[in-house]
Amino acid sequence: LGPTICVGEILVEIMATTVGRGFLQPQPLEGPFPSGAPAIFIDQCARMGGTAALIGSVGDDDFGRMTLARLARDGVDVRAVAVLPDHPTGTAFVRYRADGARDFVYNIARSAAACIARTPAVEEVLARAGHLHVMGSALSIPAAAEVIVAAATAVKARGGSLSVDPNLRKELAQDAATARTFAALVAMADLLLPSGDELERAAGVAGEAAALERLFALGVREVALKRGAGGASVVAAGAAPVNAPAFAVDEVDPTGAGDCFGGAYVACRRLGLPVAEALTYACAAGARNVTRRGPMEGAGTRSELDTFIANTPRRPC
Ligand code: ADP
Repeated sequence: LGPTICVGEILVEIMATTVGRGFLQPQPLEGPFPSGAPAIFIDQCARMGGTAALIGSVGDDDFGRMTLARLARDGVDVRAVAVLPDHPTGTAFVRYRADGARDFVYNIARSAAACIARTPAVEEVLARAGHLHVMGSALSIPAAAEVIVAAATAVKARGGSLSVDPNLRKELAQDAATARTFAALVAMADLLLPSGDELERAAGVAGEAAALERLFALGVREVALKRGAGGASVVAAGAAPVNAPAFAVDEVDPTGAGDCFGGAYVACRRLGLPVAEALTYACAAGARNVTRRGPMEGAGTRSELDTFIANTPRRPC
């Protein structure tokens, strides 16, 4: 089957360089960096060696040009990314709190990212996609949600597969329609990749065991639980969990870890690697990414991740 595809916001990120200070006063900023969860995911997927295509839109500006050039360099098929003359590329400003939490100031709704349309190039990608990865953040864009639902239906109908990363962001609206779309996609998913409380929220049930049971009853086959510096586990229906400790790294920027984890995991599974090996690459991709400033500056190729794995100790469980 055809490439792994992802649909949604392509952004640049501009980050605060101090911790604990907001944007109420001027402070030194760093960026722009290529960003947007779907873009980070698909970049890591392509770098891992998977065939990967992105559907989205950028403005006809330096932000868009920089991001597209980077994705193309990393092997992402960007032919279905529209370059729009009358909207700027979307932006995300991020600041870090002392407790590690992040606050984003997004411009997605009034940017090119909100104007995803079913162009002939998009139809062409949809017609051959073998796997769709859904980023929950993209569902806050009505036009993207529409393409995602159409893509999910088409991919599943041709025997392809679907993964969902809830990627819930407090800054992005989860109205009733978005929540319904999200629930419908979870019910179609083969693989779910939640972190934090997203497992229980996706299942609509409290407690890890009950949430997993509910998801398996819906037809989800594998759940990859992301636990930050606690590592990750993959639980499949009726099988013992496969656990992987995190790599011991100094985290300098947590943004993008889950997206890189997902990109590596999905690419590896589609390349035929067993769960344990895919999980090791996924943890390595997440850990390597947090060692660099910028949401996808630490995404790695398979050989870069092999080197990282060989040279980086694991954290004790
Ligand atoms: P998300 O970004 O979706 O919240 P996580 O923060 O759990 O996801 O990160 C995804 C994966 O990346 C983790 O399961 C872990 O393997 C790796 N990772 C993230 N942060 C760290 C860290 N500080 N040290 C080591 N590995 C990390």
